[in-house]
Amino acid sequence: MNTLVWFQRNLRVASNPALDAAYQASMQEGGAVVGAFFYDEQYTGEFCFADESIPRCGELRAGFLWQSLLNLRNNLQQIPLIIQCGEAAGLLVELCQQLDIQEVHTQKLWAHEEQFVAETVRSTLEAIGITLVEHECYTLLTSTIVTARHPDALSSFSKFRRKVEREVGRDVEHSAEVAFHSLINSSERTEAQRVMLQEVAALSENRTESPIPIAEVSEPRSVLPFVGGESAGEQRLSHYCQQALGHYKETRNGLIGADYSSKLSPWLNLGCISPQQVLRAVREYEHRHGANASTEWLIVELLWRDFFQYLAAQRRGALFCGRAEPMGSSRAGAEKMGSVSAVSDTALTDPSLYGTKASEFAQWRTGTTESEFINANMRELNSTGFMSNRGRQNVASMLIHDLHIDWRWGAAWFEAKLLDYDPGSNYGNWQYIGGLAANPRGGSWFNIEKQANVYDTDGAYRALWASSQLE
Ligand SMILES: Cc1cc2nc3c(=O)[nH]c(=O)nc-3n(C[C@H](O)[C@H](O)[C@H](O)COP(=O)(O)OP(=O)(O)OC[C@H]3O[C@@H](n4cnc5c(N)ncnc54)[C@H](O)[C@@H]3O)c2cc1C
Repeated sequence: MNTLVWFQRNLRVASNPALDAAYQASMQEGGAVVGAFFYDEQYTGEFCFADESIPRCGELRAGFLWQSLLNLRNNLQQIPLIIQCGEAAGLLVELCQQLDIQEVHTQKLWAHEEQFVAETVRSTLEAIGITLVEHECYTLLTSTIVTARHPDALSSFSKFRRKVEREVGRDVEHSAEVAFHSLINSSERTEAQRVMLQEVAALSENRTESPIPIAEVSEPRSVLPFVGGESAGEQRLSHYCQQALGHYKETRNGLIGADYSSKLSPWLNLGCISPQQVLRAVREYEHRHGANASTEWLIVELLWRDFFQYLAAQRRGALFCGRAEPMGSSRAGAEKMGSVSAVSDTALTDPSLYGTKASEFAQWRTGTTESEFINANMRELNSTGFMSNRGRQNVASMLIHDLHIDWRWGAAWFEAKLLDYDPGSNYGNWQYIGGLAANPRGGSWFNIEKQANVYDTDGAYRALWASSQLE
């Protein structure tokens, strides 16, 4: 039986249940396995802010993705990786028919659009007698465990953590080490696999260049020279655990340098590495040096990531809409102005509303506001695709609570720019700060000046990013 792995955000060969299952099924019956990745609307689409449009996947994120795909193609060795542009359902039907595929394996993802795409693929494939098997390998804990421990709707992170934390590492489905790496290395290329390679070579479309514009992170001030792919992700994980994990709790609110935090998010969110691999690396560190508050805290952060995935699954379309109420010192002013942030669910494309906020939004996103701290963070984001967690909280708070701009404009800008963009983590965190979801304090407002003084005491970060380009 021939099988296909539909890669989405699991761009790795190690510890990849979808690849392992496809490989085992095809080997048992003397068949072949093939991989495929599709540049669909999530990558090729655009956001329209009234008369302005920006690509959903900006050049730096597209560059990181392309590097990750090339690395995957290389690491898969005798298994060919097909890269095409278009909607998954239609392309999969064509491929299954051309390559005589009987089973498609993929990764289970949690956000609304991803679930919608998977549901469409499932029904389209079923109509031609092909099974779609989804494997959970994006989160630290499986949905089975989370639902068993926390059967009611998610309401706050602290409750979620209390209920599920003790399951970390015990989750049998996830803890089994997948031995694909050794399988693939030791196995000879079979006759079926040879035929598959020839058939793939004859396909009319298999990209050798990115279908969307790409750029590499070349900014010397970048916290890291971020390179996409499983090989670079594994290196970063190993470096961080050897050099810096021991002081994560004390440094995680930093702003400058490679090691104040793990910087694993871009690799985690394309699945170049998995949360289980991070957990294993942390446990190995603990085995050698002992557990401490830092090792515990890194796992807590991975639980935040899980929390936002399962929150996204629960909220579905509601993750992308809703009105954020301003908080903090400017709240009274906002209320007097007739609630400028009173955005309806269609406001993202409402030209009249955009008109009133266009110049403030432009200042925010280009890093030309009155706050040097905000500007520094936005310049870092725009030129490197990364921003610290401290920075993200401040720039989001300013957009929502001080500038009273529709939070979704900010979230969309982040989607385009962040190397580590993930729908659940991005829109979930924005909603959290806006008080739209799971925030027991009803939103988070940050006093930007105070934050700059506490976290950038000597002004080094503001000085580093005082201009868009190094002088
Ligand atoms: C407005 C806003 C938008 C955000 N958008 C994203 C996004 O699109 N993608 C993304 O991965 N993170 C997002 N975050 C969360 C967080 O800022 C980043 O995960 C973190 O800065 C990545 O750096 P790191 O890998 O060094 O994190 P570390 O501090 O080293 O944390 C380790 C890992 O834990 C996870 N994590 C940590 N904090 C969070 C959090 N608050 N929410 C979810 N996961 C977390 C990440 O996977 C991260 O790699 C956002 C936060 C805010 C406030």
